[in-house]
Amino acid sequence: MNAVFERLEQRRHWSAEEQLVLAQVRRLAQEKIAPRAAGLDRTSTFPWDNVRDINELGLNALFVPEAYGGAPMRYRLYLAVVQAISAACASTGIIYATNFHGMKPLIDFGTEEQKHRLLPRIAAGGMGSLAITEPEAGSDATAMRTKFTPDGDDIVMDGGKIFITNGDVADLLLVFGKWSEIEDPRRAISAVILEKGTPGFRVLRKEEKMGHRASSTCAIAFEGCRIPRANLLGAPGDGLRILLASLNKSRPSVASHALGIAQAAFEDMVAYMNERRQSGQRVIDFQGNQFTLADLATEYAMTESWVDHVAGLIEANEGAFGLEASMLKLRASDLAMRMTTEAVQMHGGYGYCTDYRVERLMRDAKITQIWEGTNQVHRQIIGRSFSAR
Ligand SMILES: Cc1cc2nc3c(=O)[nH]c(=O)nc-3n(C[C@H](O)[C@H](O)[C@H](O)COP(=O)(O)OP(=O)(O)OC[C@H]3O[C@@H](n4cnc5c(N)ncnc54)[C@H](O)[C@@H]3O)c2cc1C
Repeated sequence: MNAVFERLEQRRHWSAEEQLVLAQVRRLAQEKIAPRAAGLDRTSTFPWDNVRDINELGLNALFVPEAYGGAPMRYRLYLAVVQAISAACASTGIIYATNFHGMKPLIDFGTEEQKHRLLPRIAAGGMGSLAITEPEAGSDATAMRTKFTPDGDDIVMDGGKIFITNGDVADLLLVFGKWSEIEDPRRAISAVILEKGTPGFRVLRKEEKMGHRASSTCAIAFEGCRIPRANLLGAPGDGLRILLASLNKSRPSVASHALGIAQAAFEDMVAYMNERRQSGQRVIDFQGNQFTLADLATEYAMTESWVDHVAGLIEANEGAFGLEASMLKLRASDLAMRMTTEAVQMHGGYGYCTDYRVERLMRDAKITQIWEGTNQVHRQIIGRSFSAR
């Protein structure tokens, strides 16, 4: 990293404790997670060793309040941890981040009883999952059909979800569906916590994917799946409010994950451009390539700065920050795709072959423009915010 990025890092003013956590995470990422990444990708193997190593450092505790077994630190530290892990292995990065995405709504909207009962499992290294998408309900999540029917002290769940990260390995799944007693389809959306091993919950299939091949992405089904009513988050019909508030906090997280991929591609690209020679010069000495690098480095630095801005808004709890979160998700994921594509280009033919990491990074980058709201949807959200009507 050159002086620009060193100064950016210094300006983050990490506390001594935060520096210690970051140093431990970066060492783990470099020494253990990164060396395993290519093999796990090749064989589509779930990275249990990485999960164990992450849990040895107690990284779930970073986002769980102390009262429920956590040791919370600033949101920006969590984001830096996601970025560091994702730079080493994007699959492992999204597996870890999904624990946060699934469980943050429980932290923000759960009752004391729910949090005391459920969160210590996550703080101790349990895995979380966030289940929204259905075959007919992707970008328009409100079209979901999963049904929650109250029955005495229970809720009976029927339906299914697709593309669920950690769907087969999660200890707790945050599932969105519609409350059978509420007619208005948007107002019916509700959220429940489903615990691993509940009868009637089945994993139907695991997807074969272009990238993130070591993470699991599952179709899951609920067939008369009975959970205690005590696992309902908020009141029946609170789901849409919970969903939107949760996505605003998970979008910066997926942005940091995308930035991790961009960071890895940038580092590999710069190293290769300095080393590879053609026509008697290094690839970096051709001015056209310097222009490409300059654009990418500038955009990378700007996006990193926007992470700090958005993290500051969230930490200060200063009301609405959805637009800023959308901008961050959009920019970081587009950058990840562009950076990895250019990194492959700068590697020439070698970049297209699996011997070099950039081949995997380009495959891993694509989904970041699709999940947590596709980038078309984010452009729409941002664009219409300027409409005078
Ligand atoms: C690897 C992977 C992991 C995932 N993990 C999870 C998870 O953990 N939990 C979960 O709930 N979901 C998850 N998803 C689902 C993901 O969030 C959805 O795929 C995404 O929201 C898009 O929905 P869709 O695939 O149905 O596409 P569609 O909504 O059908 O979109 C198809 C195309 O139409 C465009 N489009 C749709 N609506 C609009 C619009 N209003 N304006 C302009 N263009 C539009 C889209 O941008 C896209 O190009 C995951 C998906 C994948 C592939």
